[in-house]
Amino acid sequence: MNFGLAGKKALVCAASKGIGKATAAALAAEGVELFLCARGPEALAETVREITEAGFGPVHSLSCDLTNADSRNELIAKAKDSIGSIDVLIHNVGGPKPSTAEGTSLNDWDNGFEQLFNSVAHLNNAFVPEMKKNKWGRILCITSLSVIEPIPNLAVSNAMRAATTAMLKTLADELAPHNITVNCVAPGVIHTERTEERIATNIERTGNTREVLLEDYVKSVPMGRLGTSHEVANVVAFLASEQASYVTGSTICVDGGKRRSTV
Ligand code: NAD
Repeated sequence: MNFGLAGKKALVCAASKGIGKATAAALAAEGVELFLCARGPEALAETVREITEAGFGPVHSLSCDLTNADSRNELIAKAKDSIGSIDVLIHNVGGPKPSTAEGTSLNDWDNGFEQLFNSVAHLNNAFVPEMKKNKWGRILCITSLSVIEPIPNLAVSNAMRAATTAMLKTLADELAPHNITVNCVAPGVIHTERTEERIATNIERTGNTREVLLEDYVKSVPMGRLGTSHEVANVVAFLASEQASYVTGSTICVDGGKRRSTV
């Protein structure tokens, strides 16, 4: 299917690994010009190289820290300089460190807010005005199944992603008359470095082995396996497409059936 994205321009955040990287590759394959950011410069450069060598691009990039307002300002300036207005804005960032709600310090709540909420609000403020002028836009945010079913020991993620989802739902209403859709994609358990980090933390926390923890994850998924970052990216690319023009204000789960609620 031709997604009607050729010639569009996308900013993909946290694009050097996992879901962000797969999303960048999926959009590149649709003929989208990319601006990528991520924290580590080496992995980011490798991603740019892989996409370019596959025959796609152009791909621009900047190593930045999305939790830091100055770094975000630099990203916004460089992206505008390199590719001008953004048609497809993909919000993504690494997950916050694990903690219980009771055991989270005020400083960690603040950092989580900066990482998962303000990073999204800041980039929206920067790029939405041009989308409105162009009367076309797609805003997508990678969140988590934790928005629907809070995950034990991920208090900051549970709380901040829920707030971000509510903010984006409000924005979806506001931007709908401008032909701009705003949606969230909530991954279940996807096999990436982030998942390996969570398993390592849970080995420490529970004393279980990697095999036991992995089996627990798999048992919780009706499909009986973890997802891949490409399976998430394919849904993101579809939601960015012309074909998804009537989907807005939604959270789409990519979770192999893991979500327990009916809606
Ligand atoms: P990953 O660890 O594979 O990749 C993380 C990416 O984020 C890297 O490119 C890294 O450079 C970038 N990054 C991290 N912190 C950053 C920062 N402060 N500024 C800029 N870039 C930063 O992670 P993933 O598994 O692809 O997960 C992506 C997002 O989806 C995370 O927020 C994660 O919590 C969430 N999520 C993942 C899963 C899963 O099963 N993998 C499930 C639910 C939600």
